[in-house]
Amino acid sequence: MANQAASSSAPPVTLITKSSQRCFLFNLPKFLTRIFINHVNQQQRQQEDLLYGAESGWVEARTSCDHLPSLSSDLAHIPTPDTPCHTCQHPEENWLCLCCKEVLCSRFVNKHMLNHYHHANHSLALSYSDLSVWCFACDAYLDAQVIQQLRPVYETAYILKFGEAPPFRSI
Ligand SMILES: [Zn+2]
Ligand SMILES: [Zn+2]
Ligand SMILES: [Zn+2]
Repeated sequence: MANQAASSSAPPVTLITKSSQRCFLFNLPKFLTRIFINHVNQQQRQQEDLLYGAESGWVEARTSCDHLPSLSSDLAHIPTPDTPCHTCQHPEENWLCLCCKEVLCSRFVNKHMLNHYHHANHSLALSYSDLSVWCFACDAYLDAQVIQQLRPVYETAYILKFGEAPPFRSI
């Protein structure tokens, strides 16, 4: 009787060990999932570079653009970088139209900024993903730290996104 009780108390100990092993293994896939997601983002960025003509590995941003007169006159106040797409509510990594300050999604989501360029002819946009400035009409990146008209809005967006002023870059 006493032996039976002792042997029947053994299994629960084994069960506890097994369940803790299961917990440990359960955490692994989450960790791997995060690596996988980062990998996918990187692939999307590379795909973006290809579309924008970065297949040579490095694209020189332009230091001039004929479309700067179309910039909004009030870029001191802009929507925050987490503003959803005005059209489809996509929550992040959207573009800010620098002509009318509308926030719209990228060509990899629902192309609402690209459509905006076609319909409104607003060609200048700032990426809330990496703060690059793109001119649809020039089909080129613009160097927002060199072009005087773009520098203030770049700095404002940087502060909104990172909570501090951008590091000084010698030109
Ligand atoms: Zn959208
Ligand atoms: Zn616009
Ligand atoms: Zn341009």
